Amino acid sequence: MISIYDINDAYGNIADVIRRTPVLTSRTLSAKTDNKMFLKGEHLQPTGAFKIRGATNKVRTVAEEGAKHIVTASSGNHGQAVAYIAGKLGLEATIVVPENAVSSKVAAIRGYGANIMTCGTTSTERLQKAEELTTEQEAVFIPPYDDPLIMAGQGTAGVEILEQIPDVDAIYITIGGGGLISGIATAVKESRPDVKVIGVEPEQANDTFLSKKQGKLTAIERADTIADGLRASQPGDLTFPVVQKYVDDIVLVTEDEITEALVFVLERMKQLIEPSAAVAVAAAMTNKAGLHEKNICSVVSGGNMALDKLAGIIGGLSPVTLTR
Ligand SMILES: *Cc1c(COP(=O)(O)O)cnc(C)c1O
Repeated sequence: MISIYDINDAYGNIADVIRRTPVLTSRTLSAKTDNKMFLKGEHLQPTGAFKIRGATNKVRTVAEEGAKHIVTASSGNHGQAVAYIAGKLGLEATIVVPENAVSSKVAAIRGYGANIMTCGTTSTERLQKAEELTTEQEAVFIPPYDDPLIMAGQGTAGVEILEQIPDVDAIYITIGGGGLISGIATAVKESRPDVKVIGVEPEQANDTFLSKKQGKLTAIERADTIADGLRASQPGDLTFPVVQKYVDDIVLVTEDEITEALVFVLERMKQLIEPSAAVAVAAAMTNKAGLHEKNICSVVSGGNMALDKLAGIIGGLSPVTLTR
């Protein structure tokens, strides 16, 4: 299991690449939730999500160990982060993406200088292709979450939260494969065990909620949610033990709660965030943990929202919601 020491080492390893992102506040949001609310703005990282923290820690370490070529399988935020840091460090990167990948995301990855390889439409097909490629080319595979260096890198966001909000009482963190929450939970619980760490998942992607409840890794059939960064079908082998050890509670939000939080942050706070990030805001807005008069931080994990999808969300709202 990773420790706070790994996270401090990671911080030294990535500090020149990542941004110490701001913590945003909103009086309306605080009043709405009967708590003092803080949003940790990871949507303002280079490449638009916290993923650059873990990717930089991992890629820099394997580069120091002699890697020249790295491979991953993700058209989303992890793929963009890996492509970006590889370009910066002068490594060759190949990103395996699905045939139906969003063209703007593929263009961003290509823009960072990475090779693109398309393969199938399922994550199983992509992972298999990435593995083949890794062996053939003597490259190094960069996992999206289930890796100690990735987890430690994501945990650096937790170190910043404790520095930026010294009197924080509870932190809401969105869960996909569990890299972000396992890193932050380790950073927080190994220095401030009194601070509550609360995981959040969409009701329709509740694999970690079920796994924690049943005390063992539990997979779900499909994760049919607008939060496209949270579609992992089960927690990771390395991330789940950390969730069991350090996460106080996991709460669930509905699809409507997610879009309502996204629109609130856009309209009232002038920040464009993505659905996976809105999940953590939604939990605070609907006060899932039942907290009052506390200092609450929601981690806004990313801001890569496709504008056509945003238009769909806004077009679907009733005028009442928009002017409230
Ligand atoms: C990857 C991602 C998540 C989930 O992170 P995990 O480490 O897989 O739990 C949440 N939000 C955004 C925006 C992401 O890119």
